[in-house]
Amino acid sequence: MQTNHPLLSVVVPMYDEEEVLPIFFERMHPLLDGLGINYELLVVDDGSRDATAALLTAAAAEWPQLRMVRLLRNSGHQAALSAGFRLARGEYLVTIDADLQDPPEVIAELLATARDSDVDVVYGVRSDRSSDSWGKRTTARMYYRLMCRLVGRDLPFDAGDFRLVSRRVVDTVNGLPDDGRVFRLVIPWLGFPSAEVKYVRAERAAGTTKYTLSKMFRLAFDSVTAFSAAPLRLATWLGLFGGLVCFAVVIGALVVKLSGQSVPGWTSTVLAVGLIGALQLLCLGLLGEYVARLFQASQKRPQFMIGYDTLEDPGHHSYAQ
Ligand code: UDP
Ligand code: MG
Repeated sequence: MQTNHPLLSVVVPMYDEEEVLPIFFERMHPLLDGLGINYELLVVDDGSRDATAALLTAAAAEWPQLRMVRLLRNSGHQAALSAGFRLARGEYLVTIDADLQDPPEVIAELLATARDSDVDVVYGVRSDRSSDSWGKRTTARMYYRLMCRLVGRDLPFDAGDFRLVSRRVVDTVNGLPDDGRVFRLVIPWLGFPSAEVKYVRAERAAGTTKYTLSKMFRLAFDSVTAFSAAPLRLATWLGLFGGLVCFAVVIGALVVKLSGQSVPGWTSTVLAVGLIGALQLLCLGLLGEYVARLFQASQKRPQFMIGYDTLEDPGHHSYAQ
């Protein structure tokens, strides 16, 4: 099968997924072969510390459509997806998690929908989230509510990073200047014609979640600061409110003083100083988020670095972990 310009690129970011890999291969291989089209399976190994890279390299030796790209260090799910977007060569690109929570069987449906209804984006939308924990469901719901307001578009609810995009979208996303991109927001924000395919999300097939609490916070912060200055505006409003409160306190103290009563000046001073201090800290914290973003953007640091690419080494001889 010719693999130079495949019709479909399936991009899978993987971080320490050795436990799920055997099941992943078993399910993915016959399925993709069964599609009867030119495809490439592009796995982005996001700096795994376990046997993921070794297992992938071994599998690639017997599976010509499997291409593995290894990032030098763990750069995060979204950065791994960015790498996939840059390197995929397909006419269509599907992103899917490694843990088989998104059933790979749905890929055929995504592709058929894109071709039949001639849309550029097909979102995989979870029709049932009961396999996720209560905490995950609640935080996810809050996240989508907030993001719809910030991005100013109807985001497909309960759509994660399981979706198909056309070459047009891939090229557009790759041409965007900012790096800290959150795909599930950037893609709806671009506004290409889209469709949805509903599916039931399964449990993780093996292993444990690779999204730690700190990575979830990172995603939330990136999402907010990438799309909105609303927190900064909130800081302004809080500052205004605090200023009014301080003003009232000062007036109150003046009135008490003018009425000739003894003034416990110490109380109002402490109040004013404390309030202003607290507000300043709050505003500084929020400003800091934006300054950090500007700083990173101005540095133009590479968001990922390629350490290894099976494409450039068809024999896989020089691979070393
Ligand atoms: N992942 C990654 N880099 C990371 C964290 C996660 O490439 O730093 C990958 C992971 O291997 C999986 C996908 O991102 O393919 C989604 O992660 P996971 O399934 O652990 O997240 P959850 O479903 O628990 O939100
Ligand atoms: Mg998962």
